[in-house]
Amino acid sequence: MSKKGSYSKQQDALSEKFFSAEKKFGGQCRYPGCHQNVDMRSHILQERGILNHIAPDGNFIEFTVGGLHHPEHRFERTGVNATKMFTFRGLCGTHDNALFEEIENGEYEFLNYRQQLLFSYRALLNELSKAEVVVRFHRKLIDCSNYDLSRKKRTQSMAPRWILAAKDLYYYKHLMEQELWFGDHNQRFEFHRRVLPKIDIATSAVFGGAIRPVAITYLQAQAINPLHIGFTPLSQPRFIHLIPRATDLVSIVGYVKHSSQRKIKGVLISEIEELPDENFRKLISDIVVSIQTWGISESLYETWEHQGTITTILDAIESFVTGSQQLISLPTNGQTATDTEPIGTFNMFDTP
Ligand SMILES: [Zn+2]
Repeated sequence: MSKKGSYSKQQDALSEKFFSAEKKFGGQCRYPGCHQNVDMRSHILQERGILNHIAPDGNFIEFTVGGLHHPEHRFERTGVNATKMFTFRGLCGTHDNALFEEIENGEYEFLNYRQQLLFSYRALLNELSKAEVVVRFHRKLIDCSNYDLSRKKRTQSMAPRWILAAKDLYYYKHLMEQELWFGDHNQRFEFHRRVLPKIDIATSAVFGGAIRPVAITYLQAQAINPLHIGFTPLSQPRFIHLIPRATDLVSIVGYVKHSSQRKIKGVLISEIEELPDENFRKLISDIVVSIQTWGISESLYETWEHQGTITTILDAIESFVTGSQQLISLPTNGQTATDTEPIGTFNMFDTP
């Protein structure tokens, strides 16, 4: 092995070590004013009442993203009772229990704005926690005297977009908190619920974030305060919740009401409700390909495996990741699409 190879491996190992340490560290509870350390993992969707509809025997297949230097996408067999499944570290036990009590019990129709907002708030906390891991990780690398100078420079040029993405999420988190608990009745978000024939898939996620190149330095990005009057977020988050029930699938798509981006994956927001089921499934498929938090039932996985669909899906995810890094912006129907384009005609819910 060449000297350079072993040095580069040692540098990889160093950053991998920092990254996994930051992933394990949950920080302080994200509820405003709470200074407790995160002492538990919060569920993104609860196992009983939601996930058990597609995992009656406790088996669940979760989509996972590989490590830092080996970003391999794959499906992992996790159990519904596995402690890490579909969870994140973002809140203390007290707040995890108190904040989501109203969406943890009973039967929902998912038409209630407050419930839709609570689901979206929890998905946003998950996303924010992940972004903060990357921000802290970058800071560690930049401050580390053993870290290679040219790698450090690369980190320094990449770091601002993550800092700004985290600050955008923090800004929207604050808006949601004002509406949920502090008497703000503005209803800045809008949600569309649709019930589809049963598909064994579950997710609750944010998509369309702001991880894109920005002409701003590391120090400038750090100085920006998302709670400062005049702060303008770079991104407008969208939300997707796919909630399996015994005989159907509830889907909720949400966005910022006065969004300047009028399209989701090439579909006009105003037309989402009128889309035929088939086109709507295609839209969901395009969204799912672009997010990291989702899972399916063992039986759907087996069908996909049997049909060779798994490889096609992983390829589509791979091409989305590559495509989104190139920041494609194509004019469609006389308008400029600000979102990354959908992946051709690929639809993971097509039945052969
Ligand atoms: Zn707390």
